[in-house]
Amino acid sequence: MTSFAKHSSQTRLLHVGKNLSVAGGKTVNPPVVRASTVVFDNVAQQRSLRGQRDTERVFTYGARGNPTNYALEDMITELEGGYRTRLYPTGLAAIAMTFLAYLKPGDHVLVADSVYEPVRKLTQSFMRDYQISCTFIQPDGSDLQAKIQTNTRLVYLECPGSLIYEMCDVSAIARVAHAHKLLVVADNTWGSGYLYQPLALGADVSVMAATKYLSGHSDVMMGSVCTTKEVWAALNARSDSFGMTVSPDDSYLVLRGTRTLAARLAMHQQHALLVAQWLQGHQQVATVFYPALPEDPNHTLWQRDCAGSNGLLSFELQAGVSLTRAEKFVDALTLFGIGASWGGYESLVTLTDMRAARSLTDWSGRGCVVRLHIGLESPTDLIADLSRAFEA
Ligand SMILES: *Cc1c(COP(=O)(O)O)cnc(C)c1O
Repeated sequence: MTSFAKHSSQTRLLHVGKNLSVAGGKTVNPPVVRASTVVFDNVAQQRSLRGQRDTERVFTYGARGNPTNYALEDMITELEGGYRTRLYPTGLAAIAMTFLAYLKPGDHVLVADSVYEPVRKLTQSFMRDYQISCTFIQPDGSDLQAKIQTNTRLVYLECPGSLIYEMCDVSAIARVAHAHKLLVVADNTWGSGYLYQPLALGADVSVMAATKYLSGHSDVMMGSVCTTKEVWAALNARSDSFGMTVSPDDSYLVLRGTRTLAARLAMHQQHALLVAQWLQGHQQVATVFYPALPEDPNHTLWQRDCAGSNGLLSFELQAGVSLTRAEKFVDALTLFGIGASWGGYESLVTLTDMRAARSLTDWSGRGCVVRLHIGLESPTDLIADLSRAFEA
């Protein structure tokens, strides 16, 4: 250990106490490494590492990540089965950066009608302002081929889709897309890499809101993008030039959440299935949307492509139930927080607006849709709460 005894106390204050090596064992979890500046042993090392950093993951400056972020990136790359992963401050930022990395003015994108709503807003704001045109396609991708234009560059999917969980056949879509040299990007927040792997099915890019199941405790925001080797460079370069990084404290929390991902998802699925089956038998419910139900039209594809389900389920009230009565039902629930995000340990409810959420899906004449996130509470208590709210 270097001795600083010959220096003044003012200097010693800055240099002593930086030696982290300890006698003994090691921590279970990787430590939080906070850094902006990274210092080097000599000029040659600094030059050499800076020369490598555009293609390799080397620690050279906080804005390009740090060892805690790298640990989480590795976890997500493992879950997604991809080449490498970048982290972003939110799931939405991850999506927006994906568009920024792969699109330029004059390009055209095809977007599934089942996407989470802020993506629709991106097509109407950012894309419009940057002369990137957009056409919506059916959630199952059945009209993909017919909607490809000479300037189409990218197909953006969400599988299963937001609000009513339509599946699409990513393998079939990727075959058509790749024949036309289009990139396939999938939002994999539902599957969280554990239930579903779009990259294995042929997608080029998989985006997740780590805010949801990966973090799992409703207390951190984060997004991730994992890609195949072929398309990695463009995403990595654009993310560096836009200074995209996340706090190592947040990475630590998300990484900790992933350790219990499998256990939580199994319990969310078990509870959600019980609630879904109970809702199927309720006279005020017209349809229950949950791909793990044999009656759900997406069940076959879900069974083929997914390793399980999660806590998200939606149901359509009978068409005769007014919006006011639906609102009363939601307000009467006591165990379900009224909130839009999901993936935490707790139950949530939100009243959706299917007409505003879709361009191609015709919801006229159909009932209000309530989305539930079924948490880890006792399913008996949750069903009793729902039952009481229906009576109210
Ligand atoms: C929540 C969500 C996002 C965005 O994540 P944030 O971290 O809230 O920005 C993206 N896609 C889907 C499907 C989501 O549910």
